[in-house]
Amino acid sequence: MRKWAVALSALVLAACGGGGGGGTTAATTAGTTVTYEEVIAQIQALPAQELSPSEIDTLLFVRQEEKVARDTYATLSDKWPNLAILNEIAYFAPQHSEQNHMNVMKTLIDKYAPLYENLYDPVEKMGDEVGVFENQVLQDRYEEFISCGSQSELDALYVGAYIEEMDLIDLTNRVKQSDNEDIRLGIKFLREGSYRHLRAFVNWIESLGVTYEPQLLCKEDYEKIMQALQNNDDLFNLEPTCSYPDVTELPPPSRCR
Ligand code: ZN
Ligand code: ZN
Repeated sequence: MRKWAVALSALVLAACGGGGGGGTTAATTAGTTVTYEEVIAQIQALPAQELSPSEIDTLLFVRQEEKVARDTYATLSDKWPNLAILNEIAYFAPQHSEQNHMNVMKTLIDKYAPLYENLYDPVEKMGDEVGVFENQVLQDRYEEFISCGSQSELDALYVGAYIEEMDLIDLTNRVKQSDNEDIRLGIKFLREGSYRHLRAFVNWIESLGVTYEPQLLCKEDYEKIMQALQNNDDLFNLEPTCSYPDVTELPPPSRCR
């Protein structure tokens, strides 16, 4: 449930808190959550902070990484119309759709692009066409996901769960590399979405009588995440603790290795 009083005070704190230092002015308390609308408003309200090269890379890369999720689910949804979860997560989940996640990154890009010559919207540049990416690594991964997920409904669900594991690993690495309050807020919001999406895919898989084994996460992190979801704990600040390779070095989804 949304707790508006708490959420509003978090918004005011974040807007007035005077940036700096990578603190968590948008910290949530157990059982409450920061909404999509609040994240957009806070990103716009927080003062612009200097961007490092790795922060610029994060804005360019994550904007496209979220598009990989949206486009993979949309395309596999055409292939497997019985899997309502795919289109739901791509476009229609009220808070954490992949479209909303793309919009969060777009809000950050729109805020900083006028200040940095090498920052632009890589999605707009390619005409926001489904399945077309400026980044070649993500283009290749998208094609791999479509080919793997087209084999069966179960493969499609495993690809979905894989993408969420991949995203939350990458987003965790990127939170550590950024001290900008607005970027950390956006990235943590996306990561909370990935926790929720991972569980949604796992629930669907397990409803088919299959026991899901994490494809990238270590067992401790996977269990910690599932436990936190179960207990309605603070997902915004939940940190996986195992160390993971760079997103460009991850193996394929487990059923397609
Ligand atoms: Zn996402
Ligand atoms: Zn997701």
